[in-house]
Amino acid sequence: MSKFIEKDKSFVANTYKRFPIEIVCGKGSLVYDTDGKEYIDMGSGIGVTSFGIGDETWKEAVKAQLDKVQHMSNLYYTEPCAELAQLHCEKTVMKKVFFSNSGAEANECAIKVARKYAQDKKGEEYSTIITLKNSFHGRTITTLSATGQDKFHELFNPLTKGFVYGDAEDLDGIKKLATENKTAGIMIECVQGEGGVIALSREFIVGLYEFAVENDILFMVDEVQTGNGRCGELYAYMNYGIKPDIVSTAKGLGGGLPLGATLFGEKTENVLGFGDHGSTFGGNPVCCSGALSIIKRLDRAFLDDVKKKSEYVFDALSGAEGIKSVSGMGLMIGIETERAAGEVVSECIERGVLCLTAKTKVRLLPALNIPMNVLEQAIETIKEVCGK
Ligand SMILES: *Cc1c(COP(=O)(O)O)cnc(C)c1O
Repeated sequence: MSKFIEKDKSFVANTYKRFPIEIVCGKGSLVYDTDGKEYIDMGSGIGVTSFGIGDETWKEAVKAQLDKVQHMSNLYYTEPCAELAQLHCEKTVMKKVFFSNSGAEANECAIKVARKYAQDKKGEEYSTIITLKNSFHGRTITTLSATGQDKFHELFNPLTKGFVYGDAEDLDGIKKLATENKTAGIMIECVQGEGGVIALSREFIVGLYEFAVENDILFMVDEVQTGNGRCGELYAYMNYGIKPDIVSTAKGLGGGLPLGATLFGEKTENVLGFGDHGSTFGGNPVCCSGALSIIKRLDRAFLDDVKKKSEYVFDALSGAEGIKSVSGMGLMIGIETERAAGEVVSECIERGVLCLTAKTKVRLLPALNIPMNVLEQAIETIKEVCGK
């Protein structure tokens, strides 16, 4: 066993149940451990390394910026930050961007803006945010509070007030919550990631959106996991023909460097004023430069290719032995297996395929540019393991 595994166990806080593997290098969708064993990476750092490990275009962009300036405070302007914001606004219906460093922070910003919008427009008591049961929005005290899963709430009370939880697919139930509470916003994931890779129905999302628009309740989409090409569009909301008021994202945005973004639509673009929000590292030029190289490449042809790969995975796994169902969207895929998901993942690791879990499912989040033959090889292994 690598001596670093022992060291990590001694000195790093015990928050992660790690597998006994130390990854030392990789290229694309292949990574290697200390023994030189090769793995196909079907998790891409939980949907972070959008173009795989050591992608040349991304590396060039990052290195070029490193040679110029690695950080400036937000008291000054830098090119990559402005360029990345413009690119987002051109490719979406959104009007302005706030950059941070993570998904939780992107959601914190979304929540602050929703409350300020409602307070300015309707009155101070309009502070409630409706989220969904089984959602996941982050690990800070407020985003834990936004997360609609009791198990996240137990240990850290008191949590932030002002969140209520509706059932996914129960439109009437949420309308009722919105009338019982003075509501600022409704926040959803189009595909619940940590909750088990559950794609919400078009009727529900569109119905909820229309209700929000009618009642001037902000419609907020958490695209931390679903965004940046993961679901076959730049953002998953684009699959539904809706115009959210706030979109938060992170994970795949930076291609492997920490970067979060909160995008504001017409209603919310000017809610934040000087001093209302900030982040020391937010919009870091190196991270933004890497992100630009990612977002620029997510054109129609590339996204169609993501959809094609997705269809292949759904077709290959649906109805296979030991597989009860396949869920998700694009290259965000959940597999309900007859064997326990943890057992499947451990055996896949032995056979050189790294997969994730989400609740009781096996979860796949491969790099968006995973070569077809590598994807096929991984899927064959997963099928074999599930069918045993
Ligand atoms: C991962 C995730 C978050 C939290 O992101 P961090 O970068 O870990 O703070 C929030 N929302 C969703 C939907 C996520 O998948």
